[in-house]
Amino acid sequence: GYDPDEWVDVEGDAPARGGHDGEASGPLPVLAVVGRPNVGKSTLVNRIIGRREAVVEDTPGVTRDRVYYEATWNGRRFTVVDTGGWERDVVGIDLSVAVQAEYAIESADAVMFVVDAIVGPTDSDEAVVRVLRKAGKPVVLAANKVDNMAQEADAAALWSLGLGQPWPVSAVHGRGSGDLLDAALAILPEAPAQRFGVTEGGPRRVALLGRPNVGKSSMLNKVAGENRVVVDKIAGTTRDPVDELIQLGGKTWKFIDTAGIRRRVHLTQGADFYASLRTTAALEKAEVGVILIDASERLTEQDTRIISLAVEAGRAIVIAYNKWDLMDEERRYYLEREIEQDLVQVTWAPRVNVSALTGRHMEKLVPAIETALASWEKRIPTGQLNAFLGTLVASHPHPIRGGKQPRILFGTQAGTKPPRFVLFTSGFLEAGYRRFIERRLREEFGFPGTPIEIRMKVRE
Ligand code: GDP
Ligand code: GDP
Repeated sequence: GYDPDEWVDVEGDAPARGGHDGEASGPLPVLAVVGRPNVGKSTLVNRIIGRREAVVEDTPGVTRDRVYYEATWNGRRFTVVDTGGWERDVVGIDLSVAVQAEYAIESADAVMFVVDAIVGPTDSDEAVVRVLRKAGKPVVLAANKVDNMAQEADAAALWSLGLGQPWPVSAVHGRGSGDLLDAALAILPEAPAQRFGVTEGGPRRVALLGRPNVGKSSMLNKVAGENRVVVDKIAGTTRDPVDELIQLGGKTWKFIDTAGIRRRVHLTQGADFYASLRTTAALEKAEVGVILIDASERLTEQDTRIISLAVEAGRAIVIAYNKWDLMDEERRYYLEREIEQDLVQVTWAPRVNVSALTGRHMEKLVPAIETALASWEKRIPTGQLNAFLGTLVASHPHPIRGGKQPRILFGTQAGTKPPRFVLFTSGFLEAGYRRFIERRLREEFGFPGTPIEIRMKVRE
């Protein structure tokens, strides 16, 4: 039987991280296998990933989840996405093959379009061709079910699709699959599209952020303590002297741009400007930003600006209220109100109330960072996402505007770091409704500590 748990689930656009030893492999390019039901996509995917346990459904209409497989061919590793079984939208309406292909192409670097050569091109094959043209991603055409030499002519007929050379293949027998894979890898980029700037592996990268005097340097000293990793001058080791490796909670972390923190710049003019430059530069390199706020003082515009920069950069976020030792009843009263009024944009960020001076609650910092990073990299399976969207849309449909009611047809998580969702809709979703969806998405699946992005793809 078909058991998705038997397979390795890898993230198409995210570095596959190797456990907590900090070892990481690079991100893999993604090949999506698309085509109408029963052309042999699943059989072909099994052939590509080199497993014999067939994942073949003979009954169309069974909703399977999008499945990611890791494959190797001629020493190159890549990710294969099987779209078999994307047959229904979130409210149970049958999806056209073209729409399914559109979902798949969204997060792919190249596409393998599978056609049943014996049946020949159908209308829905033609519809997929139009989608492929529009998407402009590289395509390899698999003319499947060419089980013997006599059927090669049927494959040649597929030149008419205008997608270049059809590669005759028999997914069942393996005939021609080597040439097809060579052709697929020839069009597949070496590295996945940089969907976000952060792709480097190694230790997790943390930036301590905050306006001058909030306590960044004190916090760095506190966490570093005896935990600083001394890197010997090993030949070939390059190390950015502005960053520091610190051992915390059994892991090595890279604290970004600590030289900028340690350098006590006493600037009277332009200090804000330099502080914000530093913030942007550190965010660029970091995966998670710990934003320090001085709990003993009123929240300033500069504090909220730094938070906005981190959100816009799409980084995982932890808010550290520092100088908690100076907290008193009155200050606390105002602080609660500031959090409600001025930090609404990041109600999802984990908060730690610490004192870099006394060490109070500093042990909570690492777990908060880990929570945020886990959310940042989290992927919601397509089936689960659409089950949730289906229920949501049924109970809270979009308001009718001008006699029309936009519908969500399908949703998919196109990426991580941070989580990025794409909603395919039949009309424009109002901002209020999108925010409502984000809120419910967070309630349902969590995501503490990470911004999430929701995009729409409207079909006219
Ligand atoms: P999918 O819906 O596109 O994923 O198609 P499947 O992989 O489930 O295959 C649909 C049917 O076509 C199954 O009965 C397969 O055994 C059959 N099939 C797949 N590839 C080939 C092939 O190369 N030759 C022949 N003769 N049948 C095939
Ligand atoms: P930076 O400019 O953000 O690096 O801030 P510093 O670490 O240099 O701290 C600025 C001032 O705040 C120094 O005088 C620190 O001793 C003080 N400070 C930092 N953290 C704390 C804290 O948790 N409690 C108190 N009371 N003072 C702190």
